[in-house]
Amino acid sequence: MQYNLAIDIGGSKLLIGIVSSDGDIICSDKKDISNVRSDREIITLITDISDKMMLGCDVAVSSCGVSVPGLTDSEKGEWVFAPYSGITNFPIARLLKEKLKLPVFIENDVNASALAEKHFGICRETDNFFWMTISNGIGGALFLDGKLYKGAFSNAGEIGHVTVVKDGHMCGCGKRGCLEVHASGLSIEREYSSLTNLMLTAKEIVYKAKQGEQAANKVYQHAGRHIGMALSHVSNLLNVEKIVLGGGVSLDYELFKNDLLTEFRRNVFIRANENVIIVKTGLHYHASLLGASLLSNLKGG
Ligand SMILES: [Zn+2]
Repeated sequence: MQYNLAIDIGGSKLLIGIVSSDGDIICSDKKDISNVRSDREIITLITDISDKMMLGCDVAVSSCGVSVPGLTDSEKGEWVFAPYSGITNFPIARLLKEKLKLPVFIENDVNASALAEKHFGICRETDNFFWMTISNGIGGALFLDGKLYKGAFSNAGEIGHVTVVKDGHMCGCGKRGCLEVHASGLSIEREYSSLTNLMLTAKEIVYKAKQGEQAANKVYQHAGRHIGMALSHVSNLLNVEKIVLGGGVSLDYELFKNDLLTEFRRNVFIRANENVIIVKTGLHYHASLLGASLLSNLKGG
């Protein structure tokens, strides 16, 4: 059995674990990093937690994989760009390699999640699928003919920036009407606030929606329709077998499933895509962490 150190850096949380090649997380730790501002501070925090974990966990660790939000250059080991946090061209793999004395691999968190779904999840027998993360932002990853497809410039799958509303809300990418600003967790919070004048978190809005509150249900249904529209384009273009939904918002798929599927069917070329399965991940919050543990395989060790 092989063991890898897996590090999942999110927008506001850091998750670190030691994961077996079978996908068992044998130890893990979670830290809030919403107040961590400098990239060097992140390195120190990761090193401290990882060193303690590797000492306390009685297994030999072979490599370290890091999944991060935003754009990455996995060849150079650089975290190229993270929306919101201001990180640019950060040589995270080199810095961690020096500290941890392990080979370190880095990948975008959405690609890492798709990799985990292929190895440990519901796509083990599926060669063509699309993974979509719906959380504070929205991202996508492509598995085509059994392989992760990264595109000519390593940025394939950016479904969050597909336009779903002409002249819609302004997006962090610089254009208007992106799926991300009309269906992500943050956009759900904003839409809810504009309907009710209340600033609630997505979690609180979920609670209200489940209690049957009309405004809360409305914002989820609205998001679902935009996601369904975007996914119809994915299906028309790629003819994938499965579309897997992950990320915090997806955990409550039931709140927007009907609207998503109705809009999807309305816009998809149905005869070409009638057997596509749209399903929520079974890996919950751990997809990205499990994917990080697989990165050394992806690079061939
Ligand atoms: Zn955008």
